[in-house]
Amino acid sequence: FKESLQEIADVAPLTLDKSLVHLHANINSVMEIDQVLRNGASGVGLFRTEYLYMDRDSLPSEDEQFEVYRHAAMSLKGRPIVIRTLDIGGDKKLDYMPLAKEDNPFLGYRAIRISLDRTDLFLTQLRAILRASYYGNVKIMYPMVTSIEEVRQAKAHLERAKVELSSLGVPFNPNIEVGLTIEVPAAAIIADVLASEVNFMSIGTNDLVQYVLAVDRMNENIAHLYNPYHPAVIRLLKLVIDAGKRVGIPVGVCGEMAGDIRALPIWLGLGIEELSISVQTLLQVKHRLLSSDAATCKALVDRILVCKTSDEILELLAQTEQIEQ
Ligand code: PEP
Ligand code: MG
Repeated sequence: FKESLQEIADVAPLTLDKSLVHLHANINSVMEIDQVLRNGASGVGLFRTEYLYMDRDSLPSEDEQFEVYRHAAMSLKGRPIVIRTLDIGGDKKLDYMPLAKEDNPFLGYRAIRISLDRTDLFLTQLRAILRASYYGNVKIMYPMVTSIEEVRQAKAHLERAKVELSSLGVPFNPNIEVGLTIEVPAAAIIADVLASEVNFMSIGTNDLVQYVLAVDRMNENIAHLYNPYHPAVIRLLKLVIDAGKRVGIPVGVCGEMAGDIRALPIWLGLGIEELSISVQTLLQVKHRLLSSDAATCKALVDRILVCKTSDEILELLAQTEQIEQ
């Protein structure tokens, strides 16, 4: 099966009724880029930069980050790469930068909240990303945004980083695209407002599910309650995707749910434009995409949106899978 999957790596990601869904890859390291290309991904939809900061004993310098981002951008040969700014806190720690102990780290000092507080770290990373943008199709994405103020502050820092580089005569793409992840319910609810500030949005379902359901994604005692098919999650996904369409910016998905084969009819039915998936599962999703019909999925999603339980939703999805086979 693996070998036959490889045969579809270069086939355009179109449904039977010719809906195009960009299939991008999630990466934690540039070492994965070979596989990204081999599996025919149209780009990188999420580069988790925190791994560049982890497993070492000091912060990576601007030059060091620049070299990594530039290498990634150049290896992708014009395909887009979305570089997400540092997302630590929660479950991810840096040994050399101890964070204060918190009762609820997932509700605490993490991601963009740290970047907007430690602007020295943030500006270093923004300059490194900007410099790399000269060498490829680089985009920036801010994690864990909750309010429009945070987006505006992050954008102001980006403008400052541009001024700093310009004054030194360092080249970069002045029109670099800026996006944010939708991972917090507040952000999902005001997605239309946030959309008006950025060029693209990506739904981080791993965190969004945890926050919508109040279920810690790391807690094994309640793992059975961590349910991406809860009707509240599905309705919220629709809200975000519709908001993006109204404002006219692309919306993608970069959480694990993007690579869950069962969820594909939901994405097609809601009209998603991009899925960013781990390199390992990308071709399986593509295989199903090629034999799916977007119009059928739209009708299915209408039925899913009035389901009262996740069991009903999963049952509808399972029936569709059987019909396709
Ligand atoms: C997410 O939350 O869905 C996401 C993609 O980010 P991470 O898994 O890195 O928290
Ligand atoms: Mg997340």
